[in-house]
Amino acid sequence: MKKADIKKLLADFKTSGNNIPGIFNYCDYWCERCPFTSRCSNFQVGEMLDEHQASKDLKNKEFWINYANLLAATFEFIRDKMAESGFDIMTLPTVEEREQMDKDDAETENDPLSIEAHEYMKACHDWCEVHFDEQEKILKSRKLAELTINHAIEDAFSVVTWYSTLIPAKISRALIKPLTGEVVEKQDADGSAKVALSGIDRSIAAYTVLYEHLSEYEDDILRFLVTLSRLKEMVLARFPDAPAYHRPGFDD
Ligand code: SF4
Repeated sequence: MKKADIKKLLADFKTSGNNIPGIFNYCDYWCERCPFTSRCSNFQVGEMLDEHQASKDLKNKEFWINYANLLAATFEFIRDKMAESGFDIMTLPTVEEREQMDKDDAETENDPLSIEAHEYMKACHDWCEVHFDEQEKILKSRKLAELTINHAIEDAFSVVTWYSTLIPAKISRALIKPLTGEVVEKQDADGSAKVALSGIDRSIAAYTVLYEHLSEYEDDILRFLVTLSRLKEMVLARFPDAPAYHRPGFDD
């Protein structure tokens, strides 16, 4: 699909009155499991563009041409919309502004909360990777009567894997230094922290399932549970208003 066609599709997209404005700002991006796909503009735009993709084969040249066009068209669409609102995203920051932004980024990256969350992500990925084959064998060796348990174990692995990436991403966003100190920035930090907290709770529940059924990994699982509990306390200490933040749709 050509860039101009994509831009036209985006410009013509009409959000349904049933959609929940901004719901995608504080979700976990797990659309496959989201109960709000029919009320989310972000999901609907994605579906609409997907329908117009000529090929979804990653090896297909046309797929990558389409993908490049999609990125370029989306960028231009956003730039035009911002220009209409008086923003020029092509204005480069001054040297001083750039230095300050780099300093702020480094501060966020070196924040103990961010470090803890990223270390957890790495440990979880490493653990899942090392034990993936083993876990497959264990599941296959179980009897048919244990299929429900197998499903629960597979699901728990999916949950911990998904949220291990989302948790540090949302914590990093919550830690971004406010630029203006406006209320909206604090709300965004609380909303992001709330998504991280929800991911932590779901991961704890998933590890509990793994703990129940995979005694082989008891020590590892207990370590993850301790790490996540500590992480949760750290998030709550830093963002005490996060639990009360009202996420559109999810907290209605
Ligand atoms: S709100 Fe739901 S459908 Fe929309 S982007 Fe988030 S997870 Fe996907």
